[in-house]
Amino acid sequence: NEELLINSEKLYVAGQLAAGIAHEIRNPLTSLKGFLQLLASGRQNNKNYFDIMKSELSRIESIVSELLMLSKPQIYELSHKDIRHIMNETVTLLEAQALLHNIEMELNTGEEPLWIRGVENQLKQVFINVVKNAIEAMIDGGRIRIQCFRQGDQITVRIEDCGPGIPDEQMAKIGQPFYTTKEKGTGLGLMVSYKIVDNHQGSIHVTSSLGEGTTFEIVLPYCEPAAEAGGGSGKVTRIHRN
Ligand code: ADP
Ligand code: MG
Repeated sequence: NEELLINSEKLYVAGQLAAGIAHEIRNPLTSLKGFLQLLASGRQNNKNYFDIMKSELSRIESIVSELLMLSKPQIYELSHKDIRHIMNETVTLLEAQALLHNIEMELNTGEEPLWIRGVENQLKQVFINVVKNAIEAMIDGGRIRIQCFRQGDQITVRIEDCGPGIPDEQMAKIGQPFYTTKEKGTGLGLMVSYKIVDNHQGSIHVTSSLGEGTTFEIVLPYCEPAAEAGGGSGKVTRIHRN
């Protein structure tokens, strides 16, 4: 009896998510169909249509690829990583985009290796999501400060922007599926990031002050390679998520 109830609750949540996904994908599909009909009617061959169609298609593509991160089961490569390397790669990856927006990224990591155990590509995805949000928030340019440090058995990655900040009433919606304030946003980046960090036994903390900026802190357990018997890097392990 109780089991049945739990199952129907699960089904309800799945149904809500499915409805959200269907809605988010139907919008760009409907507009694509409209443009195809316009083009097929041979009225005018406007290059603009192709640009819009392309951007609608990439929207569907990014929704689908972000959702794939949530599917299971998957095989992940768990390994020991120095978070400084993952962050360095993230900053390099986003440097061009930052420059285009007149943004300077300052990375401060110290000399000590900051070991964590996890799935490198997923953690990189989290950092990319959060730094990209900071870049997108700072429409007037400025500086993004990134710090990585250890406190006892915890590693903190702090990403500080000087964007417009997040109003109090919007704070609770951050990380909810499809919550976005951007015209071209998916509202999935932070939901996926929360999920990934949660799978790594970590947590994300957001503080924000209107007109001053927003700080995201990603906290992960410190895990030295030697601390685990036989736990060499590159070992393939299955994570079962629920
Ligand atoms: P998306 O970037 O596609 O909108 P996200 O899940 O990454 O989706 O972010 C959800 C929303 O959270 C954004 O649309 C924005 O309103 C808010 N947000 C996230 N990061 C910041 C930030 N650094 N400054 C201001 N608002 C932010
Ligand atoms: Mg985002």
